[in-house]
Amino acid sequence: MAETITAITVYCGSALGRDPAFEACARNVGKELAHRGLTLVYGGGGIGLMGTVSRSAKDAGGRVVGIITEQFLELEQGWKGCDELIVVPGMRERKALLESRAQAFLVLPGGFGTYEEFFETFVGLIIGRHPAPIGLLDVDGYFDPLCQLLDHAVEEGFARPAARSLVLRDTDASRLIDRMMQLEENPPDPVEMLPMHGDRERSA
Ligand code: AMP
Repeated sequence: MAETITAITVYCGSALGRDPAFEACARNVGKELAHRGLTLVYGGGGIGLMGTVSRSAKDAGGRVVGIITEQFLELEQGWKGCDELIVVPGMRERKALLESRAQAFLVLPGGFGTYEEFFETFVGLIIGRHPAPIGLLDVDGYFDPLCQLLDHAVEEGFARPAARSLVLRDTDASRLIDRMMQLEENPPDPVEMLPMHGDRERSA
């Protein structure tokens, strides 16, 4: 870590979800990023929570960078309102840019695509390719099962507490971003985050 956070990549659903609170949360995040002068980097879609967060950031005067694949341009209604809409050939290029264009990551409720993006970024953080904090913005306990899964891996001796500590969870966007900034300033030791690689191996 050590870089100042000027841009945050948001991973979230391409659907709105069942509970209207999800959309309210995405709207609030867009505003919060804009008010803080933080660039929103996201998947470039105009639908679902992706559409909500980007329109809200733009409406509040923020800067929005969308990164979308040629294949998803139509399906996810690539949003023309972005300050920068980058169209890439495939998902790998999209993910690489979503990671390299920001210094921190915020995850809102979403589906399998969102989970996949979270885990890929999280694992990248652990092995030090993308040192940055990652925040889960919780709405009505949406991330309870995910946090239980992460804790379970630590409790059962398959993951390190320092790696787990990179993932913050909060119900309030402003407080979560503050905590991400603090983590950025006081990061865990990268060596303590590495995969366990046989650490604490039980003797036969
Ligand atoms: P979802 O949470 O399933 O609505 O997806 C949110 C975003 O994740 C969408 O923009 C998807 O394009 C993207 N995504 C990332 N990785 C994948 C993947 N492996 N398969 C499908 N969608 C993905």
